[in-house]
Amino acid sequence: MASDAIGDKRPYKGRFAPSPSGPLHDGSLLAAMASFLDAKAHGGQWLLRIEDIDTPRVVPGADRTIMGQLQALGMQWDGEPVWQSRRLKLYQRAFDTLDAQSLVYGCACTRQELAIGAYPGTCRNGLPEGRQARAWRFKVPPGIEHFDDRWQGPQQQDVATEVGDFIIKRADGLWAYQLVVVVDDGDQGITDIVRGTDLLDSTARQQILARCLHIPYPRVLHVPLLLDDAGRKLSKQNHATALNLTQPLSTLNKAWQALGFEPLTDTSVPSFWQTAQSHWAARFKLPSST
Ligand code: GLU
Repeated sequence: MASDAIGDKRPYKGRFAPSPSGPLHDGSLLAAMASFLDAKAHGGQWLLRIEDIDTPRVVPGADRTIMGQLQALGMQWDGEPVWQSRRLKLYQRAFDTLDAQSLVYGCACTRQELAIGAYPGTCRNGLPEGRQARAWRFKVPPGIEHFDDRWQGPQQQDVATEVGDFIIKRADGLWAYQLVVVVDDGDQGITDIVRGTDLLDSTARQQILARCLHIPYPRVLHVPLLLDDAGRKLSKQNHATALNLTQPLSTLNKAWQALGFEPLTDTSVPSFWQTAQSHWAARFKLPSST
């Protein structure tokens, strides 16, 4: 089913949703910058959501470090930040809504038992004799999912065959990113998701979940990823170094150029943002917004 998000008439609300598994680095700054600029260019709000749901990966204090980095670079969020770890009841409610539609089932398969690629639906019709559920999967309806990405253009994915039924909760109680992100974006009234292309592939899954939860799915814009010298995504896992905050303008200009723009000659952080915002608006402002 096609998304109707492009015609979303709600006031613009964007968000930056870092996982506090370490400080921001040059790669994650791109998503922060692009989501901030898109919100500002539309006169909208920019919310901060700390995605600390994947508790084993959470580094204590990284949330505060990230907030300090954003502020040092002149990116002030609107309202109070939210932490996913304090919103577990919302996720359970969404799970129950899906379960009531018979869209959830327990799965006993271990990672070792599954080949790379789409989940083959092994436990769809019940757990094998004597096995216990290790996770709960969402039963993906058949059909091709379409959406328009404001940077990447029209996209489509046959989630049922390319991904298969995917995990929304693990038996140890950990909620899966795919579910919580949809619940949070819905609960916070997010109209626009701006993030890195590593999550482009998750969008169709999230759009389906949103539909089953009766949540309007936001417009999406996926920005290119910053790659390291070996062509890999720059990430905390491959030890990207933390942002240089002693020279904020040069740090900002580096991210700005990585987004494909010419470097700016502004001499203060506020003026950098003003100029960047007008360039961003010229390229990405939605026709319907004022
Ligand atoms: N927490 C995710 C990350 O840091 C981003 C989620 C999103 O923007 O949807 O990669």
